[in-house]
Amino acid sequence: MKDKTDKQKAGVVSRSLHPSHFSLHPFYRVGIGNDVHRLAPGRKLILGGVRIPFEKGPVGHSDGDALIHAICDALLGAAALGDIGHHFPDTSPKWRNASSVLFLRHVRRLLDQAGYAVVNVDATVGLERPKLAPHMPRMQKRLAAALGLRPAQVSVKAKTGEGLDAVGQGVAVRADAIALLEGSRP
Ligand code: MG
Repeated sequence: MKDKTDKQKAGVVSRSLHPSHFSLHPFYRVGIGNDVHRLAPGRKLILGGVRIPFEKGPVGHSDGDALIHAICDALLGAAALGDIGHHFPDTSPKWRNASSVLFLRHVRRLLDQAGYAVVNVDATVGLERPKLAPHMPRMQKRLAAALGLRPAQVSVKAKTGEGLDAVGQGVAVRADAIALLEGSRP
C-alpha cells in the first residue's frame, strides 16, 4: 500500500470521503412550532398529509393541515430560517388549496441546503373529534417520507380539549411540534 498518503496512513479521513460529514463536529438545534385552524363544514380534514373522514375540516388558504404547518415552523425555527408565513405566504395564489406536504418537502430542501439533518420530530394534535388513533401510523409514515426520515424519527400524538377551549368546543384543530436538528461545523 505504498500509494497511501501520509494522512491516510495516519487515519485522517478527508471530509468528502467521510460516510457522514454530520458526525465530524456535530451540534444540535431545537425548534418549536404551533398552528390552529378553525373547523368548518364542507372542508376536507387533512392532518399529516392524510385525509380523515369527518363532516368538518380546517379553513385555510392551503389545505389547512395544522400538523404539517406546526412541524414546518418547528423545523424552520430550529434552523433560524424564518417561519411558514415567510416561505409560503397566504397571499400567494400559488399556495391556494395546496397540499401542505409540498411545504414539508420544501422545508426539508431548505434544511439540506443549510447543512442540517433532522434528528427527530415530535408533535401533538388537539382535536375533539374524530379519534385520530386509527390514522396515526399513516400520518407518521407520510410525514417521515416527506422529510426523508424513518417513521421512528417522527412522533404524532393526539389529545382532545376536554370540552374546554376552541379545540374542546369542536371549532378548531390545533397542533404543536418540536424538532431537533443536527448540523456540522467544517
Ligand atoms: Mg396553518
